[in-house]
Amino acid sequence: MSTDTPGSQSSLHRANLERVLRAVRMAGSLTQAEIARGTGLSAATVSNIVRELKESGTVVVADTSSGGRRARSVSLSGDAGIVVGIDFGHTHLRVAVGNLAHRVLAEESAPIDVDVSAAQGFDRAEAMVERLLEQAGFRPEKVIGVGLGVPGPIDVETGALGSTAILPGWTGIAPGRELAERLGMPVHVDNDANLGALGELVWGAGRGLSDLAYIKIASGVGAGLVVNGQIYRGPGGTAGEIGHITLDEAGPVCRCGNRGCLETFVGSRYLLSLLTSTLGADLSLPRVVELAHQGDLGCRRVIADAGRQIGTGV
Ligand SMILES: [Zn+2]
Repeated sequence: MSTDTPGSQSSLHRANLERVLRAVRMAGSLTQAEIARGTGLSAATVSNIVRELKESGTVVVADTSSGGRRARSVSLSGDAGIVVGIDFGHTHLRVAVGNLAHRVLAEESAPIDVDVSAAQGFDRAEAMVERLLEQAGFRPEKVIGVGLGVPGPIDVETGALGSTAILPGWTGIAPGRELAERLGMPVHVDNDANLGALGELVWGAGRGLSDLAYIKIASGVGAGLVVNGQIYRGPGGTAGEIGHITLDEAGPVCRCGNRGCLETFVGSRYLLSLLTSTLGADLSLPRVVELAHQGDLGCRRVIADAGRQIGTGV
């Protein structure tokens, strides 16, 4: 640790360096002119910092063109650190290994019934992370962090699933802590819809906005809410659980124990059950979408009705 006083020459330099690194990390790759614009630093300062970061192997600089002029693009070096993403869905598990230059190096996805047993899910995830790291050619010590998405509300205080009724097989489990112990890596956990919202806020449709709602429609339905530039979680992390809003008090019984939740009208299990008698038992949601595109009236009806229900819930 350095003992620089704030405002000294070298602490200012370090602050500028961190600003440049942050800008590059968020964007993936930027020209030096873009870094200068984004950070408010002078072109000469940016040029010096980039040279220093390049010499230390933190960034790589490549020739590119910007507006028809030759420019140099700066991105984080592939060796600067490895990150792992783990996504638990209700019906799948997906793991990706990437570097800080925003490149996915290895990726794998497998069908899994996450609701049944958390331990089984963790076993699979652990094995997948090990296999993918090996495939990408990196040792586990290179991993600077793991991002974990789970399809249920997370209580940020305890790290445990906030409403266990929504993921019955995960009762009393803190998925982040459990995986951190198994992998020996720092794990950051959040609800998958919150992470989707965060992704859109930083890199996607929500760039530059301070308030947005991200609606996740998969096997289940959820929402990630951004208020004032921050994820809004609500009590026990349940703010975005729109899948369990009651639409019909006399409706079908939901897996959460209530009746007529939005999810009972738009969840994949329900939607497929409406069509299997005419289209066969091995029907999948992607196939329903494909058939709808081809003009199948039954599939179109089911999708249109689900859209209306989701609209009401939202
Ligand atoms: Zn429900």
